[in-house]
Amino acid sequence: MSNKNIIEAKNLIFTYSDEPDALSGKITAAVNDISIDIERGSFTAIIGHNGSGKSTLAKLLSGVFIPGEGSVQVYRKGCDTPLDCSNEDHNFDIRKTVGMVFQNPDNQLVATIVEDDVAFAPENLGIEPSEIRKRVDAALETVGLTAFAGHDTHKLSGGQKQRVAIAGILAMNPECIIFDESTAMLDPQGRRDIMDTILSLREKGVTVVLITHYMNEAAMADKVVVVHEGKVAFSGTPKEVFGNKKMLSDCSLEPPQCAILLEKLSDLLGCGNPCAINTQEAVSVIEKALKEHGIMPEKGDNNA
Ligand code: ADP
Ligand code: MG
Repeated sequence: MSNKNIIEAKNLIFTYSDEPDALSGKITAAVNDISIDIERGSFTAIIGHNGSGKSTLAKLLSGVFIPGEGSVQVYRKGCDTPLDCSNEDHNFDIRKTVGMVFQNPDNQLVATIVEDDVAFAPENLGIEPSEIRKRVDAALETVGLTAFAGHDTHKLSGGQKQRVAIAGILAMNPECIIFDESTAMLDPQGRRDIMDTILSLREKGVTVVLITHYMNEAAMADKVVVVHEGKVAFSGTPKEVFGNKKMLSDCSLEPPQCAILLEKLSDLLGCGNPCAINTQEAVSVIEKALKEHGIMPEKGDNNA
């Protein structure tokens, strides 16, 4: 029986420099005693203001960084013995199990032709050419770029480049993918495409960790973890997180726009203080209140 969690991190501490901070005179840890479990097959969002420690945490969870203190254990499917991030011999297997997609798609592409780029990582893993072909085709299909296999990577849009980068990670068959602000440099359509890809990966059983500063993206996750000054300030369902206004404001964060809108309208609507984490929920609450006030004609069961 393998573990229900794919990643278990305990009491992680990571410091970039031994030099004391010029202002505070203290040595500040970028990640300062974080424990976090990532459940297999789940979709976890990590939010927090700039410099709160999200990227450092992501690099610790994916074996890119080794923690100064604490431990990260990665449980591969069907294996009872975890991989240990502090053990250099396990590093290669951890990188294969937990893939990472970064913010800037331009920094992640290595080849000029799309399919060569996607094949690059599995080639480096020494995988058979026929298996690589299958993986590249499957990965391009998942990200919706089958028709672009022979295209020049430099001529793609930002969103397409990011999807090539995701396909490159997928071709390694990771069990978990960490996206570090991977939609940040894209236009709204590019962002939606990446979110659709992320949701379809999750449908296929890939464990997803999404670091984002778009609260509407975080609202789609099963669990949201709020990082503040190198620590986990709060974690819970999107409703628990975005309903906790005091915690959000202490961490310099705001709930999604639709929740702000509903809050501003709630006195006027007399609808109490419900928390809407997406447009659909906000519309339902507003419609119900309007009907109760007799402002909106009843049109049968209209909750579209
Ligand atoms: P986030 O991703 O939430 O913006 P980071 O993990 O990048 O936060 O950064 C956490 C802290 O570590 C910040 O204070 C940042 O300035 C510092 N930091 C990040 N990268 C480096 C680095 N390469 N060298 C020194 N300090 C760094
Ligand atoms: Mg970051």
